[in-house]
Amino acid sequence: MDGMDGTDGAGGANDAGGANDAGGMDDAGGMDDAGWLRLACELAALCPPSRTAFSVGAVIVGEDGRELARGRSREGDPHDHAEEAALAKTSGDLAGATVYSSLEPCGRRASRPRTCAELIIASGARRVVFAWREPSLFVEGTGAEVLAAAGVEPVELPELADLAREPNAHLL
Ligand SMILES: [Zn+2]
Repeated sequence: MDGMDGTDGAGGANDAGGANDAGGMDDAGGMDDAGWLRLACELAALCPPSRTAFSVGAVIVGEDGRELARGRSREGDPHDHAEEAALAKTSGDLAGATVYSSLEPCGRRASRPRTCAELIIASGARRVVFAWREPSLFVEGTGAEVLAAAGVEPVELPELADLAREPNAHLL
């Protein structure tokens, strides 16, 4: 339960073999945390750019290691968040699932009443793996804390933060 402060680098990430080169997009079978998160970061790069919101990608993977859904910012509506867009494509019961998001899920939000942290908690997902801790630009980033308090394990893979930040360079 105290694994959320992944500051000690390489150790935290589920012992994902070969996380130094988080490749593996060409073969969805047996992808590790870093591989799924890299995919989420690549989805972020496909978002229509915005001057008032981050570009984020999210992938939801079931307990069996198979992709359930993916989403990205502003996918169907200017207010859509990536995690929210992905969650909307699932049947709702995500017990045991992992949510991969290029950005820490929001714990506060200006655009809609329910934050992604709340939506993820309600879904039953067990873990959230993200690359980039939300900078205090639009709202304060508290998503990881909110998740942890509700028993959802937040895992940060800071080695992919640069990739997650890239499509947002114009905001920073
Ligand atoms: Zn959100």
